[in-house]
Amino acid sequence: MNKTDASLRSQHRLEAARLLAGFAPADITAWDQAESLPAAIPGLLAEAGLLGTFISTEHGGRGWDAVSFGLLCAEFGQSSLSLLSIVTVHSMVMEAIRLSGTDQQRAEWLPALAKGKKIGAFALTEPDFGSEATGIQTTLVACDEGYRVSGRKKWISYAARADVLLVFGKLQDGGPEDNSAVACLLPTDTPGLRITPMKGLLGFRAAMLGEIEMTDCVIPAANLIGRKGAGINYVAAGALDLGRLAIAFGSLGAMEACVTDSVNYAKQRKQFGQSLSRHQLIQQMLADMITSYKAAERLCLHAAELRAAGDPMAAVETATAKYFASTHAVSVANQAVQIHGAAGCSAGESRTERFYRDLKITEIIEGSNQMQQIMIAQNGMGEFVQSALRRKRLMTGD
Ligand SMILES: Cc1cc2nc3c(=O)[nH]c(=O)nc-3n(C[C@H](O)[C@H](O)[C@H](O)COP(=O)(O)OP(=O)(O)OC[C@H]3O[C@@H](n4cnc5c(N)ncnc54)[C@H](O)[C@@H]3O)c2cc1C
Repeated sequence: MNKTDASLRSQHRLEAARLLAGFAPADITAWDQAESLPAAIPGLLAEAGLLGTFISTEHGGRGWDAVSFGLLCAEFGQSSLSLLSIVTVHSMVMEAIRLSGTDQQRAEWLPALAKGKKIGAFALTEPDFGSEATGIQTTLVACDEGYRVSGRKKWISYAARADVLLVFGKLQDGGPEDNSAVACLLPTDTPGLRITPMKGLLGFRAAMLGEIEMTDCVIPAANLIGRKGAGINYVAAGALDLGRLAIAFGSLGAMEACVTDSVNYAKQRKQFGQSLSRHQLIQQMLADMITSYKAAERLCLHAAELRAAGDPMAAVETATAKYFASTHAVSVANQAVQIHGAAGCSAGESRTERFYRDLKITEIIEGSNQMQQIMIAQNGMGEFVQSALRRKRLMTGD
């Protein structure tokens, strides 16, 4: 990274930090309690140019690299993970079009999404299929107008407000790719579509999740994104890779907030005649929190740097960063609540209780951490065998 890259990235991060500083902590708590975000939020993010940052300027975005995008997500994570989730799913829809769309689809959809004129949501999970995404039962039946989309989706972030859904299903056209996975864009004003808001979540309560029922929703053939058969392995996988980067950095940002709040609280709260920060068992917790944060930061930045450089190892390093950052963020939030005592258990006293609930979700979304572990182990095994072989060859001179 040269000096210009570094200063540009700091400048990008500052843009996000300035906008987010405008949201009062009491308002963020109120959104969480109301399980809803103000309708004006996407407009504010769009106006600040923060919705299409990684999209090229040619397509209405800002052309930021993966590191700047990650740092933006870290800023959102420090503020509100519900707010981050809109940026995440909206970005995943754009990423799918960017990677798998035709030139015409990119020209048609990306400028409106990047400028926030339309907001996207990512609809993969179904009531009976989560981690096993290849099992989804939504169908796209070929018809004269294009396709009739029918099926059910559940746990879809921001579905309650989105303008367009990226829906994954199985093709039924009687052709050679019959019953293979496909992705399509489905505007939310399409007849036959019903979205029911989901309430009472543990975390991400203001992310406006929805359950979706699709009954013969007609879309033109031009709304199919990616090749027939590539719906899960390429279109969803590419979008989820970006989603994982967003969640890794978002967890990092939330971790930073938990550490900062804990340090401040430990310094001002006195028990047994001295501030909590002087008690060594509190220092032990702070040491673990700080170490987790620093290790997660290195992994997140490494993954983003690889992605920015177009390195093929970026995907597995992103899975590693997401797995590590989310797991350690849960533990950091747990310790933050412990340091705050009862004040850590009340939304009126601190924001640690919200981070504690929200961060648990980061271990489940964008591919659960068990799915990340499988990916890390499968790639890592090959990597370590190769490295041992290289070492042996070097030593024997073969
Ligand atoms: C707040 C929130 C927001 C979400 N937003 C979206 C969204 O915008 N779009 C969307 O499509 N989905 C969304 N989801 C759904 C999310 O992606 C799924 O919850 C996730 O993929 C896991 O699927 P599942 O819940 O069906 O769990 P399951 O797949 O049923 O798994 C249950 C448990 O078993 C484990 N498990 C499963 N298979 C294995 C295995 N082979 N080996 C070991 N362990 C295994 C899992 O890791 C998990 O711990 C959201 C969920 C939440 C909670």
